[in-house]
Amino acid sequence: MKISIIGNSLTGLILAKALANKNINFEIFYKAKTQNLKSNRTIAITNKNMAFLKADILTIPKKLVNPVNEIGILTENDPLKEVLNFENKKVLFYLIRNHELIKILKRSLNKIKFTKIKNKRFYEKMLNSCKNQLIINCERNNFYNNSFFNQKFTKDYKSIAYTSIIKHKSIQNNKARQIFTNYGPLAFLPLSKTMTSVVFSIRKRNNRLLDENIKNLIKNYNKYYDIKNFSKFEIAELKFEAARYYFHNNILLFGDALHKIHPLAGQGFNMTLRDLKILVNELVKSKNLGLPFNKNLLSSFQNKTRPYNLLYSNGINLIESFFKFDTNFNNKFSSSVPALINKNKKLKDFFINFADNGLRNI
Ligand SMILES: Cc1cc2nc3c(=O)[nH]c(=O)nc-3n(C[C@H](O)[C@H](O)[C@H](O)COP(=O)(O)OP(=O)(O)OC[C@H]3O[C@@H](n4cnc5c(N)ncnc54)[C@H](O)[C@@H]3O)c2cc1C
Repeated sequence: MKISIIGNSLTGLILAKALANKNINFEIFYKAKTQNLKSNRTIAITNKNMAFLKADILTIPKKLVNPVNEIGILTENDPLKEVLNFENKKVLFYLIRNHELIKILKRSLNKIKFTKIKNKRFYEKMLNSCKNQLIINCERNNFYNNSFFNQKFTKDYKSIAYTSIIKHKSIQNNKARQIFTNYGPLAFLPLSKTMTSVVFSIRKRNNRLLDENIKNLIKNYNKYYDIKNFSKFEIAELKFEAARYYFHNNILLFGDALHKIHPLAGQGFNMTLRDLKILVNELVKSKNLGLPFNKNLLSSFQNKTRPYNLLYSNGINLIESFFKFDTNFNNKFSSSVPALINKNKKLKDFFINFADNGLRNI
């Protein structure tokens, strides 16, 4: 039985590679070329998900990833005094540039035919011609999303993420930092000895900030790098979205189309990888039993993922709200609550597990 994947961005590609590895028949359709290769976007992949990628999807060459084994949490009060510190003997996450991951995925799928969607009525036509075929929709704004998946939980973070890569003097660069500033969370994510990815999620005021203003803000908070230059800033509007229903008849949503969260914990794509593991298991199970990829399978996938995903993303929303609320009280709570967590090893281990495993293995 053939599966149709709609979308060729990171989610569509990783799904395609997972299916190809399991000899599951699929075709892939795309509207536009995958994102521009000069993008400065980076992605943090947790230790557990990196192990899953290596075992089941593809090995990422070591030279493309930077391991991070310590995370410092700081606040507006003092960008040098950590209120919370997570350090682990093992790696906490690996940082990779999105386009590098996309490049190796595409290379590994070079024998697969990608079909361009040219006709506006493609989506309706596909529904009629593939009544008994599974369609996995990894796009976020197409006919399927708008017609069948309007019911969702949403929250407007009223923030814009500005991302850039800074070049700096060479240092041992394996510690990430997140400063909860009065503008919003500012993350420094080490990419190599001389490069660090910066994600500044700034709450919207009146106008979009100019690159120069953001650079000055970052320079002000930065106490860790001797910055030589910034790459061009890219922006992303931040909204929380979680579909109430993961499937409609034979259409399944996947990736950010299913759940989209604040990047403060670097978990959006990690959630998708956790979903992927479960989806592939369900597909392989059905295939081995000679069962069709039908509603029962989709329902089982939804039952195994939705409660955890909702709880998990609400955990992220709680952290986002806590620090936003704290800003209104002159950072009174962020100077005491994280310090309490910092003193409690069990709680700290819980948070490390929360980030690495999701909620399923806690
Ligand atoms: C600023 C930012 C940082 C993120 N960092 C992480 C991370 O470290 N680890 C993780 O697991 N997930 C992260 N995510 C989520 C992750 O990027 C998405 O889950 C993933 O890219 C979705 O893939 P896709 O194929 O569905 O869509 P894509 O086409 O990859 O992304 C959809 C849209 O989201 C926006 N976007 C997504 N990611 C970024 C980014 N990094 N920078 C700028 N714009 C972006 C763009 O507007 C893009 O058009 C981040 C998201 C954002 C917005």
